[in-house]
Amino acid sequence: MQHTIISVRDLKKSYGTFEAVKGISFDVYEGEIFGLLGPNGAGKSTTLEIIETLRDKTSGEILVNGLNLDTDKEQIKKIIGVQLQTSGYYPGLNLVELVDLFSGLYNQPARAKELLHLVNLEDKAKSKYKELSGGQKQRFSIATTLINKPQIVFLDEPTTGLDPQARRNLWDLIRDIRSKGTTVIITTHYMDEAEQLCDRIAIMDEGKIIAIDSPDKLIDDLVETGFERPKQVKSANLEDVFIHLTGKEIREA
Ligand code: ADP
Ligand code: MG
Repeated sequence: MQHTIISVRDLKKSYGTFEAVKGISFDVYEGEIFGLLGPNGAGKSTTLEIIETLRDKTSGEILVNGLNLDTDKEQIKKIIGVQLQTSGYYPGLNLVELVDLFSGLYNQPARAKELLHLVNLEDKAKSKYKELSGGQKQRFSIATTLINKPQIVFLDEPTTGLDPQARRNLWDLIRDIRSKGTTVIITTHYMDEAEQLCDRIAIMDEGKIIAIDSPDKLIDDLVETGFERPKQVKSANLEDVFIHLTGKEIREA
């Protein structure tokens, strides 16, 4: 039996007269990597930010590890990790100092070394955030989500704009976080990524969830309708060429 760690029931969110989220319901199971997919404007970030306690909902019920969003916001904040927008804030501080600063905000003992090790940024401990490459910045922001040892981590498009190597590197990091028992909720526009990484996905469109299942099951369902992809004549694609030529090693600025 799967243990439900997040339960969303009939969630609605309006901005003025515009209904961005139109009554969605879904569960996230403990220990899974759950993907929220959908075109720009589908309502993914709105949904995540409501669960993260950062945005008010219009209506609906949300439970996070049994805690009710309406009454237990502070408790919920303690068990979740949310990516902080670190860029531009404290340009003079290095990574260790930034982690220590955030630890203080969370009322947590500083363990910058351990966190930087986890995201493979020990070498950059004395560097400033602005000196990091795109992939390193993303890894650092993921490290900041782990400061309070959360049970659930929310990642909103963590791999957007990264090169193929950095993207794969981040997949390993996310799998690593999950292997320690942390539940991960992620949004992405890369379908290969969702297929590789996510145990289950929900596809949102115009404020509604239009499908929810494992990637494998969703693909099988489509094939069963008689869908056929135009014949694939080659057994590799351009991404395979790119990775083959440039290697899997991550590039560090
Ligand atoms: P996604 O993350 O799936 O791209 P968002 O949740 O960011 O979608 O946005 C959903 C819809 O709500 C979009 O049409 C967006 O323009 C609108 N929206 C998001 N935030 C606001 C806001 N603060 N005020 C008004 N409209 C907003
Ligand atoms: Mg978004």
